[in-house]
Amino acid sequence: MPAPRFALPVALATWLGAGLAALASLAAPPTSGTAYENGRWFDGEQFVAATWYVVDGRLTRQQPDRLSGRVDLAGGHVVPPFAEAHNHNLQNAWGVTRMRQAYVDQGVMYAAMLCGDPLSTTAAREALGPSPGVDVLFASACISSADGHPLRMARQQPDGSLAPVQDIHDKSYIVMDTVADIERKWPLVQAAAPDLVKAILVHSERPEHRTDPAMHGINGLEPALLAPLVERAHGAGLRVAVHTESAADFDVAVQAGVDWISHLPGYRFWKDRDESDYRLDDASIRLAAERGIVVIATANQAVDAARGDAGALARVQALQRENLGRLMEAGVQIAIGSDAFGGTSLVEHAYLRDLQVMDDAALLRALVETTPQLLYPQRKIGRFEEGYEASFLVLDGDPLRDPTALSRIRVRVRAGEPMPAQP
Ligand SMILES: [Zn+2]
Repeated sequence: MPAPRFALPVALATWLGAGLAALASLAAPPTSGTAYENGRWFDGEQFVAATWYVVDGRLTRQQPDRLSGRVDLAGGHVVPPFAEAHNHNLQNAWGVTRMRQAYVDQGVMYAAMLCGDPLSTTAAREALGPSPGVDVLFASACISSADGHPLRMARQQPDGSLAPVQDIHDKSYIVMDTVADIERKWPLVQAAAPDLVKAILVHSERPEHRTDPAMHGINGLEPALLAPLVERAHGAGLRVAVHTESAADFDVAVQAGVDWISHLPGYRFWKDRDESDYRLDDASIRLAAERGIVVIATANQAVDAARGDAGALARVQALQRENLGRLMEAGVQIAIGSDAFGGTSLVEHAYLRDLQVMDDAALLRALVETTPQLLYPQRKIGRFEEGYEASFLVLDGDPLRDPTALSRIRVRVRAGEPMPAQP
């Protein structure tokens, strides 16, 4: 009889199947997550209708075994959270108290604070607490010369008096004047527990500034110090951001192999200087592209620096267009940072949009993808892809058609958790 001959294998197969299923369920318990439906998701170029699921704080297109919730995004436009690559608003406790909520409200979930002394950085970290709604990187202490920026600024007291230089040196910023200082002062850098190192160059091609009293406190490092400093920082696993003022500074920074240029040169032309001092060289642009050095333009700083002089601003903007255009053509990535007191990267986004140096999709990509990935290269952020962190903003409108939609945020989700609606 054929039947019994089949009976055994079928039973065996069933038993084996059940066993395998049991094993599989041991390896992977049933998944549970939330569906975000009827959204239009930014793919780097355009918005595409899709349903994404959030499982364990990560994005997936695979529907989980069990749906713990469904959220109807009602045609909203979904973008990754914004990032701010150059600011100082959150680098001390006072700033955190004053500005943290503005970052959350404006959808800025990643930010880099590019100076600050060790004590204020510690206080800022404490004030931010364990779940601040914004991830912050700290450069902690800037590195500059004894006569360098930010000395002049840091000496100014609220009552108009000047603090003694020794109160500022190696406290508000770290002084390095010789190559030997790099090793000697390195413990000060470490004491600040920085996430990255920030170094200052200010017209480093003009040694005559050192003896000019008008320049005291606004100079920067000797150019010869930068390459060994970058080497030391990289050896300690720290990236280096550099303030550059002139085209020559940009070249020094690129040759030294820095990671970030934290200002595009030429947001202002100094007295007796002109376009030729701020127009980037082809060779330095090429080298920046080859080395993957990212430029944080902070181009909006031109507005304040022009102090109402429309003619000066027009010249600066013409050169900003030229420099940025050549950088992008060579393949250098432009990140978004505002350096704006009381503002966020949205200020810089609006300025660059008016400058018309890149199309709206490229500009949005810079804000939501390039900049977050620059700040946190090890994390899966800045895109909607399988396994990426489930952090996103749902906008009321298409920001590629109407940029004001960037400030109309209907829903904020951070690491899979909806953030409370604003009061
Ligand atoms: Zn700055």
